[in-house]
Amino acid sequence: MRIVLVGPPGAGKGTQAQRLKDYLGVAHLSTGEMLREAHQAGTALGRQAAEYFEAGRLVPDDVVVGIVADRLNEADCADGCVFDGFPRTVAQAETLDAMLAERDMPVDLAIAVEVPESEVFQRLAARGRADDHVETVRERMGHYRRLTQPILEYYHDQGVLRSIDGTGTPDEVFARIRRTVDTARQTAS
Ligand code: AMP
Repeated sequence: MRIVLVGPPGAGKGTQAQRLKDYLGVAHLSTGEMLREAHQAGTALGRQAAEYFEAGRLVPDDVVVGIVADRLNEADCADGCVFDGFPRTVAQAETLDAMLAERDMPVDLAIAVEVPESEVFQRLAARGRADDHVETVRERMGHYRRLTQPILEYYHDQGVLRSIDGTGTPDEVFARIRRTVDTARQTAS
């Protein structure tokens, strides 16, 4: 199964993607994590990406798409994948569809994790990652609204979008995600 998790910064996508990956026994593909790792490793791509993510801006599509294409070729992605933080623009969603079509593997489900903005700010303040300063968070929220939210309509039109309430404890949120995934699996089989 290929599942895309969509939600504002601080919605808990990383935590939930990790759990979902363990539940389904598939790969976890986090572009944010891959970009931070490239930065820590000091690669040219990492240095280029850091200029964007440290300012709370989206890294250019071609950079992100390149690392996703490489990751999809790894063996663990063959049985399925949880996409976390990718796609973040309609252009990325279209490119992902094209890459998956080559492999005859569509996106089965896009799960929108819904969290009110006021709660997002509280959660990010508590997390304290380098790109979690108030100004940067505002910037990231703006990009989310303008560039990422339109992918919800894109997946809705494909008939694969489901929305869940992202408030509550990680266990409560995961229970909702699991129910959504189980229902989709039953319908598919
Ligand atoms: P995340 O860990 O998903 O919150 O991502 C951290 C930062 O990495 C984001 O604020 C962006 O600057 C960058 N990033 C991660 N994924 C993408 C993506 N799919 N497209 C563009 N930039 C991304």
